[in-house]
Amino acid sequence: MKVAFVASEVVPFAKTGGLADVAGALPGTLNKLGITTVVFLPRYKGIKGTFVKALNIEMQKTHAVKIFKETNVYFIDYPEYFERDGLYGSKNGGDYHDNCERFTLFCKAVTQMISEDNYDIVHCHDWQSAMIPLYLKSAGSNVKSVFTIHNLGYQGKFAGSKFSLLGIDKKYFTPEGIESHGDISFLKAGILYSDAVTTVSENYAREIQTPEFGFGLEDVLKKRSDCLYGIINGLDYNLWDPKTDNLIYQTYGGFAGKTKNKAYLAQECNIDPKRPFIGMISRIAGQKGFDILTKVLDETVEMGFNFVLLGFGEEKYHVKLKNLEEIYPDKVSIHIKFDNKLAHRIYAGSDFFLMPSKYEPCGLGQLISLKYGSVPIVRKTGGLADTIEEFNPKKLSGNGFLFEEYSSHALVDAVSRAHSIYCDRDIFKILSEQCMEYDFSWEQSAKKYKKLYASLLDH
Ligand code: ADP
Repeated sequence: MKVAFVASEVVPFAKTGGLADVAGALPGTLNKLGITTVVFLPRYKGIKGTFVKALNIEMQKTHAVKIFKETNVYFIDYPEYFERDGLYGSKNGGDYHDNCERFTLFCKAVTQMISEDNYDIVHCHDWQSAMIPLYLKSAGSNVKSVFTIHNLGYQGKFAGSKFSLLGIDKKYFTPEGIESHGDISFLKAGILYSDAVTTVSENYAREIQTPEFGFGLEDVLKKRSDCLYGIINGLDYNLWDPKTDNLIYQTYGGFAGKTKNKAYLAQECNIDPKRPFIGMISRIAGQKGFDILTKVLDETVEMGFNFVLLGFGEEKYHVKLKNLEEIYPDKVSIHIKFDNKLAHRIYAGSDFFLMPSKYEPCGLGQLISLKYGSVPIVRKTGGLADTIEEFNPKKLSGNGFLFEEYSSHALVDAVSRAHSIYCDRDIFKILSEQCMEYDFSWEQSAKKYKKLYASLLDH
């Protein structure tokens, strides 16, 4: 079986969030199950590869696209669109104004590459590749397509006036097709025209069919519920394992080694090493719970915690977080940037890891933090609810602390439960080491994808 993976970010070439981790790890695990995988990604600034061929892509005019390759990854090269500092937008401004053109070109080029080779399945991820199933269907291709939703909050919506550049029949621009209140919705194309739709946890697959989490697409998703599946993401333990991680201060396999990493992190961040640390590594976006968090961070610090944050995103939260750092310079350390090495060090050096998400399709942060013995404190939603279970100090069961109501009050309550467990050093050590034992490797989930691909080929 030969599968083409299409994503707009793939580790180690380009990353803003969890999609890159998934697209970097899942193809390799599928290879081990006997599936041949090829990956397609835009050739962003800094990506090299070897030139393999040239394509002419029609999008109102002819665009001369080049294809480069490294191992099993093909890069779609069109410097005018992809040789930029950001993936989807500039650092200071919002999204690039021509994202519709950029990712239409990407989808058209990948569709052409697929039609020139023998693929059984094309597996597309998120809105940036969501037009491919529609391009294949409208061309009468018999390649089967799977579309995975990593985050329904990002839909690739563009003004209806851009429809003509997509190069498809007008019949698709209706509310039953890819129109959404007069706009084009790329995500709808993926949901409606793929042979199977998946999302990244079972709970999120249920949630997105409700108005609370459906972002207006709940009815479209319900219509496809007979071929909508939740498959939990795994973690690439080749990259995320404190026993072998050469980006952390000192490798470790138990609580004692973790304590050393905490001391180094305290030194690097210039904060008090004796207090419990809450770490957070996140896109700084409303989705991630910054509205309820910023209201009570001072309360958390007063309760006794240090707070170390690494993230980048919405300016209004940057300002609030930086203000807090000014008030508590030896207890709060805020790093507004993307920094993979520091991320590894925070996972290793924190006692707790916070994810107060409003919604969370799967979440990788909590899976990584478990492996590093950094105890998750999370909101009970999406994949967080599927992977984290409240710690019970009597039974010594569970792996973290959860809160259900999306409120600052409920968040503080969970943080305070975490604090009382931290104060009992023996119990906290047991909990931290218990977290390190959880196994969320890709093998089980990759088998589910393989089964799904096979079922599509049977039809
Ligand atoms: P999402 O995909 O919604 O951003 P996930 O929890 O699924 O959230 O995945 C986030 C991934 O991105 C994790 O690997 C996390 O460590 C990483 N990450 C997020 N922000 C940063 C940052 N500022 N610097 C380094 N890594 C980051």
